[in-house]
Amino acid sequence: MRTLALSFPGFSYEDLHNAERLAELTRRFYDTVRLADPALMERFDGYRETKGVGLRDVDISAILLDMAPHLSRFVAKLFGVENECREMMVRASREQIIFVFKREFVVRRVVRKYSTESVAGLNEARLTKQMDALLEGFSGVPHDDPELRISAVVTELLEHERFLKNPLPPASLEYLGMLAQRLAGREALKDLLPVEATEPALKHLLAEVMGVIERWVALQYYRRSAATEEWISFRLPHPVDYNHLVETHPLDGPVPDSNIGPAGHYRRRDGFDLTDPRFGPREVMSEIDYCIFCHERSKYSCSKGMKEGDAFKKNPLGYTLKGCPLNQKISESHVLKARGDSLGALALIIIDNPMVPGTGHRICNDCMKSCIFQKQDPVNIPQAETGILTDVLNLPWGFEIYSLLTRWNPLNIRQPHALSYNGLNILVVGLGPAGYTLAHYFLNEGFGVVGIDGL
Ligand code: SF4
Repeated sequence: MRTLALSFPGFSYEDLHNAERLAELTRRFYDTVRLADPALMERFDGYRETKGVGLRDVDISAILLDMAPHLSRFVAKLFGVENECREMMVRASREQIIFVFKREFVVRRVVRKYSTESVAGLNEARLTKQMDALLEGFSGVPHDDPELRISAVVTELLEHERFLKNPLPPASLEYLGMLAQRLAGREALKDLLPVEATEPALKHLLAEVMGVIERWVALQYYRRSAATEEWISFRLPHPVDYNHLVETHPLDGPVPDSNIGPAGHYRRRDGFDLTDPRFGPREVMSEIDYCIFCHERSKYSCSKGMKEGDAFKKNPLGYTLKGCPLNQKISESHVLKARGDSLGALALIIIDNPMVPGTGHRICNDCMKSCIFQKQDPVNIPQAETGILTDVLNLPWGFEIYSLLTRWNPLNIRQPHALSYNGLNILVVGLGPAGYTLAHYFLNEGFGVVGIDGL
């Protein structure tokens, strides 16, 4: 059995359940930030003292976003998970390559230039051979992840392609000369390769190579194959049809006018196990990439609702777009998740929603209904939230880290840590989401809590 030894001398795991010790940990965190960045701590102190009164929402977001990385480093050090947290950041930055490929190449180029009809005339067998030969010329890119591999190749080439209409800088000349050498002798590419290493010939090579990739990507996009059907670079938002939000088909049964959902969506329940496959890490990052971080804008609708004058707007189905009932810091958490800082992202979520395992993609989606994207698919905020929580739970001591953040969160100016027992006891009857959230709230306020529920 592993034993958790916290890396701060004088702090044991038991201390993390003791109000006085949590208060000490809070002071220690603030001192750490003060030492590392006195100006930031001064801003945070101002926020704490004024409770945010007089500060613009965007300034509060900025303070929290600047503080959160300090908190995640502090907690990572406390639990000895710094390497794992660094790896998350490396992975996030590597995944960005896919989103650059999606934005710059798939969306802005391939989808605009090609259509289902125009790819019909492409020679798939020849293009596949050319692509295979091309990819062999890029040994430095990941080989075990085809989507990342193509993305890395394309983003590398895009860096040089932007000079095609101008004289090539020396670095691009050298790069293309070496590319020509690496591709030399490959039968499938013989028509593309230059006979000499002059600048016009190398430019021609780059244009030809980009053309091959463009056509191959177009084929994959329009003729989805098993190999690329899961690629998130090919998942583009669809227009929202409020009259047909859920796919159904007429059911030819005894009850007239009955409909049925697609069989692929059925989930057989077996006991109490969860039945839905949550989004994978790349799908979650895709939602984060799609988010436009509205806390920086006047319309932060997923968190605060969509206003029309003084009232909340309604969507075409008459649903009032009030946003998250907890005003969760959704956009800010997405900013941190985009950087691979899931611990910081979770700390921001927990300020408003400490019982986040009960929400996520399972219980509510008011935020998603109020997303700024009303005419096309909204950001799947609940799945992003679940993804952030899952990242932290998957860390060594992940549950203990999450659990600590529910009792101790120095970014929460209202209550940075749980209070000592106040001698009063409370019975919470019914432990659904409201009941357990209330129980948690009372516990942090210092009450003794007993919860009962009839299953
Ligand atoms: S989830 Fe939607 S509304 Fe919220 S910040 Fe992202 S884009 Fe904006």
